[in-house]
Amino acid sequence: MTSHGTPSSLTRLPHSQPQTQTQTQPQPYDVVIIGGGAAGLSAAVVLGRARRSVVVVDSGQPRNAPADGVHSYLTRDGLRPAELVRLGQDEARSYGADFVAGRAVDSRRSAHGFTVTLDDGSTVSGRRLLVATGLVDELPDVPGLGDRWGRDVLHCPYCHGWEVRDQAIGILGTGPKSIHQALLFRQWSRNITLFLHGDMLDADGGISEQHGPTEAEWEQLAARGISVVIGPVAGLDVRDDALAGVRLAGGHVIPLQALVVAPTFTARTAFLAGLGLVSSPHPLGVGTHLDSDETGRVLSGGVVVPGVWAAGNATNLMAQVVVSAAAGLGVATMINSDLIAEELETAVAAYRHPFSAVQEARNSSSVLGDRRHGLDPQHTPAQQTPDDTVQTPHGQTS
Ligand SMILES: Cc1cc2nc3c(=O)[nH]c(=O)nc-3n(C[C@H](O)[C@H](O)[C@H](O)COP(=O)(O)OP(=O)(O)OC[C@H]3O[C@@H](n4cnc5c(N)ncnc54)[C@H](O)[C@@H]3O)c2cc1C
Repeated sequence: MTSHGTPSSLTRLPHSQPQTQTQTQPQPYDVVIIGGGAAGLSAAVVLGRARRSVVVVDSGQPRNAPADGVHSYLTRDGLRPAELVRLGQDEARSYGADFVAGRAVDSRRSAHGFTVTLDDGSTVSGRRLLVATGLVDELPDVPGLGDRWGRDVLHCPYCHGWEVRDQAIGILGTGPKSIHQALLFRQWSRNITLFLHGDMLDADGGISEQHGPTEAEWEQLAARGISVVIGPVAGLDVRDDALAGVRLAGGHVIPLQALVVAPTFTARTAFLAGLGLVSSPHPLGVGTHLDSDETGRVLSGGVVVPGVWAAGNATNLMAQVVVSAAAGLGVATMINSDLIAEELETAVAAYRHPFSAVQEARNSSSVLGDRRHGLDPQHTPAQQTPDDTVQTPHGQTS
């Protein structure tokens, strides 16, 4: 649903008009943004200020929703995640951005650029597509972790470390990243316990030769006074809606106030399958992401996918909120430049050959959209006339 209603096919009306009805074929948006977290909202503000028509489709599940507050975001410390989103929406709306509540389930190329289908069957269309859908944290398979996630089951010391300083902190040891986490969280508390679990144990419950700590790591753990407990961890001990400890498979409970886990990060990209785009393994081995170049252009097999961009956790699995917002800004400026380049090409072609078949196709497309006739304007070169005749501003030829 938009702020104005629920269209079945949402494209752009002239700025500032409600979008529920159109008598004439509407124009596509300049940019369709899928995902309205820090990355998508920041891009919407920047594109709105660049006088671009923008629609943000959002399913309302920002990754940090379970957390009490946002930390490490200058001047916004402790702000509730939902409040940050609300402020961002207000700001983007003030520059003309439209919002649609819903989940993108499919995306295709179309005459004007892209058409994205939502879970209610409606569509949005735009010339460029920005993927800002974030990621899903896939938690290790220990009962109860999901219920405590973002409260006292944690992963990021820069998000929560201060809040659990000096507490009894456990690290669920599922792989090499867990040893790194144990050494890292030691900065916030002297009371750290690493629980060997999962792959760090072998089939008969002993320490895995292959995945357990190396000799050097045992020494580092000892040097920093980090306790090591051989698991596996079977569950959590929760009292009065607070973590009280972890329960080992043998039934023994070790008291704790916080438990650190290493989720697998999975970018939310299923709706891009229709464009032939899939997530790829992240080079750090922490999950899957949408590959992109340094300007935010999405890559497939290392090759740029024209018109598709990405920002935030969907492409950068490690990005914090402020980094995601910054990425949204950066990508927005790149998309705007890309649109300017296209419009310039069209303007020059029209200036040179105002009645060419190419220009006719573009005029037809801009007036009639999908009902246009003639050439596909997306696939026509800027100039089709062989001669180099240039028309001057005064209508003379040279
Ligand atoms: C528990 C927890 C606490 C955290 N605390 C902090 C912190 O204190 N400070 C900090 O800097 N970072 C923190 N982070 C990291 C922070 O969540 C991310 O940096 C940030 O959310 C990334 O922003 P984003 O815009 O890329 O993605 P998100 O904020 O996740 O936004 C993506 C949006 O896209 C929408 N979406 C997804 N798929 C679709 C679809 N198919 N169609 C439509 N919409 C879709 C989602 O509903 C969501 O609203 C925390 C993370 C977690 C898990």
